[in-house]
Amino acid sequence: MNGRLYIKGEFKDAQFNRKFTVNNPYTLSAIGEQASASVSDCEEAVDAAYDAFCSYKKSNGYERAVLLRKLYALMVEHESELAAIMTEEQGKPYTEAIGEVRYAASYVQWYAEEAIRIKGDLLEPTHSSMRLKVLKEPIGPVGIITPWNFPLAMFVRKMAPALAAGCTVIVKPAEQTPFTAVKFFELLDRAGFDKGVCQLLTGDAALIGKVLMDDERIRKISFTGSTEVGKLLASQAGKTLKKLSLELGGHAPLIVFEDADLEKAVQGTLDSKFRNCGQVCIATNRVLVHESIVEAYTERLLVKVRELKVGNGQEAVDMGPIIDEAGFDKISRHVDDAVNRGATCLLGGKGFRQDVTEGGFLYPPTVLAGVTGEMLIANEETFGPVVPIITFKTEEEAVRIANDTPYGLSAYAFTEGLSRATRVSEALEYGMIGINTGRISTAQAPFGGVKMSGYGREGGTYGIEEYLQLKYIGIEI
Ligand code: ADP
Repeated sequence: MNGRLYIKGEFKDAQFNRKFTVNNPYTLSAIGEQASASVSDCEEAVDAAYDAFCSYKKSNGYERAVLLRKLYALMVEHESELAAIMTEEQGKPYTEAIGEVRYAASYVQWYAEEAIRIKGDLLEPTHSSMRLKVLKEPIGPVGIITPWNFPLAMFVRKMAPALAAGCTVIVKPAEQTPFTAVKFFELLDRAGFDKGVCQLLTGDAALIGKVLMDDERIRKISFTGSTEVGKLLASQAGKTLKKLSLELGGHAPLIVFEDADLEKAVQGTLDSKFRNCGQVCIATNRVLVHESIVEAYTERLLVKVRELKVGNGQEAVDMGPIIDEAGFDKISRHVDDAVNRGATCLLGGKGFRQDVTEGGFLYPPTVLAGVTGEMLIANEETFGPVVPIITFKTEEEAVRIANDTPYGLSAYAFTEGLSRATRVSEALEYGMIGINTGRISTAQAPFGGVKMSGYGREGGTYGIEEYLQLKYIGIEI
C-alpha cells in the first residue's frame, strides 16, 4: 500500500515525497509506505480546515446529518476492506477488526441523528424589553490525535461529533496504523463533504503536533494516548488557550465479590482483558477477588483462558501479536517482577517471537495468582494479556485497593447484591463503571476518565458538547 495525505479534498504526496514504512506486527515485514507530512503540508492542512470552517459552520444540522448518514452507509458497505487493512497493520483478529468497524460506524450513525438536535435557550429576562438568547456554535477547526490500538474507532469517535457540530477536522492517526485511516478517507471523499472539511496528516508526531498546537486557528484538540503525551499537549495548549479533551491511560480494577455470579465474572474478565490482546485503555489490569471464592473463580477462569489461541490475526485466533518490542518488554517485565516477588504463574508467563528471528512478538494469555500491592503489575498499566489476581477480605478493602491509583478511567465490579452494586459504583473513583459486565463502551454513553486518565467525554449527547461553545446574545427591543 502507498498511503498519501488528504488535504482540501485531494490525496497528495508529502512535500519532498517523504515517506515512512509501515510493518505488519505479526510478520514484521513491510506492508507499504505512508506519506510523512512536512511543516508546510501541516500548515496547508490548517489553512484548508480554517477556510472550510468559515462556510461549514453555517451549514445546518439536517445538511450535516445527510453527509454523516452517507458516510455511515459507506463504512457498512466497505467494512471487510477496512477490517482487512486493520488486521494487517495492527495485528488484531479479523473478527475483532470487523467489530471495531461496526463500533466506529455506530458513532457516525448516532451523531447523524444528533446533528439535528443541537439547540440553544431563550432565557426569561429581568426586564420585559430584553430578549436573552443562548446559542450553541461549533468551536472551530479541530485537531484529532489518536493511537494505534483502535486504528479506526479512536478517531471516528471524535470526528463524528465534531462534524455533526459543524467543526472541520484534521486527523493525525498513529504512525503504526495509518492505512486504515487512508482507506476511511477514501470513503469520506465519496460522502460529499466540501473540500477542506476533513484533512488527514501522517508522519512525525511531534512535528505535526506542534503545528496543530501552536496555530491559534485550531480551537480544540481531542487526544487519545499516553498520559505522558497528554501532559505535554496540556502544557502546549496553554499558549493558544485551546480547548482539550484527553483520554489517557487506565489501570482498571475488576472486583469479584463473594456474592458474584462466577460465570458472569469469568466472562467479564475475558471480555475486558483479552480483547485486542489486552492492549486497550479500559482493559482490566487488576482482578480483585474475595478470598472465600478465589479458588472457584480461578479454576473456572483457567478453563476458559486455556482455550484462547494466540497467533496471526488473519487466521482463526483469539489474540494477535503485541504491537512492538517495547510493548512486549513491558509485559514481560511486569510478569517477571510479579513472579520474582512471590506471585504464582498459573498459565502462560513467557512471551516469544514467532518465527524466532524475524517474526513479531506474541504473548500467551497469562494468569498470575497471589499478586500483591508492591508489584509493578499492581501499579502500572500492562497493556497485555495478563490477569493478576489479588485477594481481599472486605468490601472496604476492595474499594480502597481499587482507588489506590493515579488513574481513573474504567472499573468493573461483580456482585448480585443491589445495595453493594450501588455502594461500590458510587465509591469507585472512575469515569466509567461496569457492573456485572466487562463491556461498557457504546455510542450513546459518555466515554472518558477522571484523575490522570484525563478529561472530556466521547459519545452520546455529552460528546457533542466538546465541540460546541456557548454564545449569549442580549437584545433590547
Ligand atoms: P501510545 O503509547 O499508545 O503509542 P502515544 O501517546 O505515544 O501513545 O501516542 C498516541 C498518539 O499521539 C499517536 O498518534 C502519536 O503519534 C501521537 N504523539 C506522540 N507524541 C506526540 C507529540 N509530541 N505531539 C503530538 N502527538 C504525539
